[in-house]
Amino acid sequence: MTHELHIIGGGMAGSEAAWQAAHRDIKVVIHEMRPKVETFAHKTGDLGEMVCSNSFRSDDDEQNAVGLLHWEMRQAGGVIIDTAHQHRLPAGGALAVDRDAFSAEITRRLHAHPNVSVSHEEITDLPDEGHWIIATGPLTSAALGDAIQKETGTDRLAFFDAIAPIVYADSIDMSKAWLQSRYDKGDTEEEQRAYINCPMDKAQYEAFIDALLAADKTEFHEGETAGYFDGCLPIEVMSERGRETLRHGPMKPVGLTNPHQPDVKPWAVVQLRRDNALGTLYNIVGFQTKMKYGAQATVFKMIPGLENASFARLGGIHRNTFLNSPTLLDHQMRLKSRPNIRFAGQVTGVEGYVESAAMGLLAGRMAAAEISGVTLPTVPQDSAHGALIHHITGGAEAKTFQPMNVNFGLFRPVEGLKGGRRGRKDRYKAYTDRAKAAWSAWLDAQSLDAPAAE
Ligand SMILES: Cc1cc2nc3c(=O)[nH]c(=O)nc-3n(C[C@H](O)[C@H](O)[C@H](O)COP(=O)(O)OP(=O)(O)OC[C@H]3O[C@@H](n4cnc5c(N)ncnc54)[C@H](O)[C@@H]3O)c2cc1C
Repeated sequence: MTHELHIIGGGMAGSEAAWQAAHRDIKVVIHEMRPKVETFAHKTGDLGEMVCSNSFRSDDDEQNAVGLLHWEMRQAGGVIIDTAHQHRLPAGGALAVDRDAFSAEITRRLHAHPNVSVSHEEITDLPDEGHWIIATGPLTSAALGDAIQKETGTDRLAFFDAIAPIVYADSIDMSKAWLQSRYDKGDTEEEQRAYINCPMDKAQYEAFIDALLAADKTEFHEGETAGYFDGCLPIEVMSERGRETLRHGPMKPVGLTNPHQPDVKPWAVVQLRRDNALGTLYNIVGFQTKMKYGAQATVFKMIPGLENASFARLGGIHRNTFLNSPTLLDHQMRLKSRPNIRFAGQVTGVEGYVESAAMGLLAGRMAAAEISGVTLPTVPQDSAHGALIHHITGGAEAKTFQPMNVNFGLFRPVEGLKGGRRGRKDRYKAYTDRAKAAWSAWLDAQSLDAPAAE
């Protein structure tokens, strides 16, 4: 039995996993293909490179789920978050960093660690033996992607280009929207009421199409178009093909009756489908989009019932390799068919630098515990880390599984608090208080101290 841990990919997740394991006396080898093999988005051979924005988003650990994740990572001695704070730039409530200084420092700290070595090479096959973490991110190299796909089945590794927005259920105006499955399909009442429907009259539909056509769109990066037209066309592209296309596609009004106006047949209907077991999040069905974020917020709020919608995630398009984790991974992010391999980071179906690093943190600790023969207590579901890992390894609907940002919709409700917008501040504070207590207890219960930041 080897006591070495191999990590493929030295991005956000791989770097954090290596740091956590190395501080638990595990010898770690990071296999990073850059700069020998490049991706279209990375620009350097550094570890922990930020491919796009230089922001780790909100640092508010009382009212924001990503800020809470920052807090938890800090308590756990996370290298990504600690280095981000070292190289922080002024950015209001956001944690923005000097990206070059940030990744240079991550690289320096990992190279300086006596338990870490870095091998610059592309890994193209799934390893048969030893302890491995695959943290190769959304731009996993083609050869390794093929090997993963072969192991997991062709439809299980999504090369997904378009994602639809996700809305907080409690921000939808149910005095305009209603619950119904098309043609009342389903054996149980729950199934017959599985969708939230938002109706449009003709004038509202025409105005919506005009806005879609006029909205600012993101252009593709070179190399990103592969697979784009395979059945997940962005709604703007559909509307460019004809003003009626959406009304005959994702916005078709058939088989639905608006209980608020039973005698009026809607001209078009936008449907939202439940996105998590808790029923706190709904995705807009068929609304994958490449509109810019600002435009999405404006255009989607034209939909009756979504005027005050809060978005847990906006839609977007880029190449994205991720596993159908709810079916393929166990609760410790091990591949069920090959438990010597863990996955971490964006490839597990989380989205964003912070979320990816957080899953790296858990994978690093889990692998280290396993190698040392230590039982790691279960990650508490009420922490932000716990809410995320629970979502990707079981809580999410496997059929509609798409990459997910951390957000309060993933948390179990706190009983006895007011719902809706008015109660939000108290609710979020209750979530973050509960999470901090659970996370601190989890850290305390581990026999080793959290690694001290250097
Ligand atoms: C174009 C684009 C823009 C994005 N913009 C943002 C943004 O603005 N904000 C945000 O929060 N998130 C953004 N993301 C998502 C972002 O990629 C992730 O948030 C984060 O970088 C993922 O962390 P990771 O560790 O899983 O993957 P990465 O950070 O991408 O790290 C994976 C590493 O694995 C290496 N690798 C891949 N295949 C192999 C192999 N076979 N062998 C060895 N090494 C390999 C890669 O070179 C890379 O270094 C963006 C993603 C893309 C693709």
